Amino acid sequence: MTIVEAGDPVLRRRASEVPAAELGSAPLFELVDEMVAAMRAAPGVGLAAPQLGIGSRLIVLEDTAERMAHLSEEERRERARSDVPLTCIVNPVLESMSDEKEVFFEGCLSVPGYSALVPRAHEVVVSGLSPAGEPIRLRATGWPARILQHELDHLDGTLYVDRMLTRSFCTVEEVRTRYAGKSLAEIAKELGV
Ligand code: ZN
Repeated sequence: MTIVEAGDPVLRRRASEVPAAELGSAPLFELVDEMVAAMRAAPGVGLAAPQLGIGSRLIVLEDTAERMAHLSEEERRERARSDVPLTCIVNPVLESMSDEKEVFFEGCLSVPGYSALVPRAHEVVVSGLSPAGEPIRLRATGWPARILQHELDHLDGTLYVDRMLTRSFCTVEEVRTRYAGKSLAEIAKELGV
């Protein structure tokens, strides 16, 4: 399945709850498998069902040490980036646990080629169900909290460009070549954010 891009109205609609009757069903597990495959192939650290053109409240996320290999210790610390095991949440509900916002670069598989600084809550709690119908409750801070907020936004028709600091909008190439290894303070100064 291909990832739909900004402009497709499915990315701007509120996705529907997955009905209880579909929990544990073969079609739901198949959809989850498709989402995981598309996320890994991209590669990305998260994917919401609307990104495959399906208006259902379903997200997957995964971030591994391998994917972070290009980051220095300091960069990982600054981003509060830590391992996220493969997680799939059906009908997730997000609660922000802190008024404290962290700002960092974020991109989206549906807005390929670009990135921007986006303020996100430092800590969130997400509750929902596994595809089998088991309750899930996740508490996350830093990078994993950012991924969760980004993916949950997709279920409400919101893209990161709706929340970004607009002056920080960059091509991925510029972020890689110009800002890799720089502190957030330096980046903000260069961009006049
Ligand atoms: Zn996205």
